[in-house]
Amino acid sequence: MPASEPLIPPTAGSPEQPDRPDRPEEACGVFAVLAPDQQVANLAYFGLYALQHRGQESAGIAVFDGASVRLHKDMGLVSQVFDQEVLERMPGSLAIGHNRYSTTGSSKACNAQPVVLNTRLGPFALAHNGNLVNAAELRADLDHLAGEFTSTTDSELIAFALQEAVEAGLDWSAAIRQAAGRCRGAFSLVIGTPEGLFALRDGHGIRPLVFGLMGDPALAQWVASSETCGLDIIGAHYVDDVQPGELVCFRQGEVEPQRQRWIEEPAKLCVFEMIYFARPDSRFFGESLYSYRVRIGEALAREMPVDADIVIGVPDSGIPAAIGYSQLSGIPFGDGLIKNRYVGRTFIQPTQAMREAGIRVKLNPLPDVLAGKRVVVIDDSIVRGTTSRKLVQALRDAGATEVHMRISSPPVTHPCFYGIDTDTQDHLIAARLTLAEIEQHLGVDSLAYLSKEGMVEAAHAENGNFCTACFDGAYPIEMDEAVRSSKLMLEPAGMAARA
Ligand code: SF4
Repeated sequence: MPASEPLIPPTAGSPEQPDRPDRPEEACGVFAVLAPDQQVANLAYFGLYALQHRGQESAGIAVFDGASVRLHKDMGLVSQVFDQEVLERMPGSLAIGHNRYSTTGSSKACNAQPVVLNTRLGPFALAHNGNLVNAAELRADLDHLAGEFTSTTDSELIAFALQEAVEAGLDWSAAIRQAAGRCRGAFSLVIGTPEGLFALRDGHGIRPLVFGLMGDPALAQWVASSETCGLDIIGAHYVDDVQPGELVCFRQGEVEPQRQRWIEEPAKLCVFEMIYFARPDSRFFGESLYSYRVRIGEALAREMPVDADIVIGVPDSGIPAAIGYSQLSGIPFGDGLIKNRYVGRTFIQPTQAMREAGIRVKLNPLPDVLAGKRVVVIDDSIVRGTTSRKLVQALRDAGATEVHMRISSPPVTHPCFYGIDTDTQDHLIAARLTLAEIEQHLGVDSLAYLSKEGMVEAAHAENGNFCTACFDGAYPIEMDEAVRSSKLMLEPAGMAARA
């Protein structure tokens, strides 16, 4: 490949399952706003716009005007699904929004969220980020309602469980707690009702969820969002996380939300949210993820040093760690890979062929920066290795004399069941191959990963209670055997060889 050509995608039929993405994929983003006497549809639009990185397959907003609700959802990006005309037809002061990337249920319009159902207390709209591991059991429990199902998602099952609890005579808050108690897995939920807005996380808090206030606190204009970037975009200020196992009720006109623990379990935030999924300007544990990602780059430089002339990062998520690696090692940082800023992330399209096309237009190496140099290239993770291999070849074609790959997380050896699409285990390169075999496969001069300890310590010890299952197989939530065996099938030879 000539040095000036952009990256070439993996070849069809490569051993790494060509129809799957070569990145861990986020499941969804949720957003909600309650602002009495305001029209909030536009605010919900911008909230989802800020959370677009969490899901690009469909978008939807439900707006409550008193006890009536209007819903608009469709396949596509937020900016494709909504325009000003659509938003103006959605008056009301409470909105629930959702961006979707499918992990349960296929990619089609009927699976878009929010889910809206009616009850004796009026309608509700529910948006879900996460994945249930007992969906089959819950589906069987709700089989008498099967004729009413309109989607194939676990999110709709949660909604029907809530509807059932309300119809049994419970009020909103008790019904939400009861429905949540029937669910096992990861779920960050925002639920709009005629009474107000409810936000809830599963007991481990695997997916993030925060809330904040717009304007004068006396106005009680509340916002809930998967990440703080959703608050920032509409000028809301962060108040707190919805804590793991907590239900927060924001009632119309009440200046204090009502907070209650519905379950007590150890916190296990997905560490991949910190490393890669969430936006670098979103704040976790009181600081932006940019700062955390610089620190894991520094830790990587401490743990896995190498003699080289330049450090580059794979845009965008590898850049902060590359800066950290450069700062600690003293090796100059450079822009060796240029990203086309005017395309979205490569997994906008769900098919591999379309993803490959996305990669081709997305990154281009810079021979002026790379030629004749020993290059350290930093990326956040390696899943199947197809993209990394082509990246290494492109760096060599651009004139790099040595390519040393450093990964700012440990080897991904186990699949995720909690809302992230990380492929089945037999397609994870680090579960199949030893480190030396991966080096050879990628064509690098050296490859090294950050240790699990380094990854967790960089988050500061007091915040160190994470789910790290895709790196160590320590799944915090029990799964049915059928669920386990759908993705988990190897004795990871690669891990054993490295141990
Ligand atoms: S298994 Fe991995 S991706 Fe899934 S929640 Fe745990 S750390 Fe996150």
